[in-house]
Amino acid sequence: MIRVTIFNEYVQEQLNKRVFPFQEKWNEEGIRHMAARADEIAAAHEGKAIHDTLKALVEEDSEVEVRHIANLEMPECGLTEEVLEDTDVLLWWSHIAQEAVPDEVAMRVRDHVQRGMGAMFLHSAHMCKPMQFLLGTSCTLRWREGDSEHLWCCNPTHPIAKGVPVCIWLEQEEMYGEFFDIPKPDELIFIGGFSGGEVFRSGCVWNRGYGKVFYFQPGHETYRSYFQPDIRRIIQNGVRYLANPEHRQEKLECIWVKE
Ligand code: ZN
Repeated sequence: MIRVTIFNEYVQEQLNKRVFPFQEKWNEEGIRHMAARADEIAAAHEGKAIHDTLKALVEEDSEVEVRHIANLEMPECGLTEEVLEDTDVLLWWSHIAQEAVPDEVAMRVRDHVQRGMGAMFLHSAHMCKPMQFLLGTSCTLRWREGDSEHLWCCNPTHPIAKGVPVCIWLEQEEMYGEFFDIPKPDELIFIGGFSGGEVFRSGCVWNRGYGKVFYFQPGHETYRSYFQPDIRRIIQNGVRYLANPEHRQEKLECIWVKE
């Protein structure tokens, strides 16, 4: 079995019901705007939270078991050494509280990827600390809500593209556009095109240490992208591609070689 852990920030789903301690730094208009959206998120995710959608999605593959669901408010964000030791692939969805993840937790995730754990960063997780630490760039981009997307496959023999058409039409998706400040991907699999003529490197893989990182752009919180069969297939393929049974016990260190 492939052991999956899902980290969902799990803030936007609850903003209409409660106040989070880190909201103090946000402006009130921004909070009202986000809180008003909680019902839309619930509608898009069939009354559930984003991690529920992702759990059902990856467990459609009978070889996959979701072992842990983690969120921002759990001690150590639910990503302790024990949890990460028990994880082949970590899925990460986050958006408005990226800064609230302690550096220590983000570096622990980075270390586990270098030791062989797979990591899939979804949609607005492009700005999360573990992705920034792993890639070493700002991961900033251009964006606009309320768009649609043509998702083109530019690497059809890649395992993540298996069974996926050359172009997927997403009637509702957020525009993410270049310049996307990432290092050159080791594997580029999908390119998104949007109504304003913008293009975006929507599906990218990087090797980091003994592990792999997959960034996949579709998945705006109020849209139905994760319920589209081709998008589900890509994420399921991604879990299989990232899974590495050689997840090592030891943190990577320099090795002194005697003559
Ligand atoms: Zn979004």
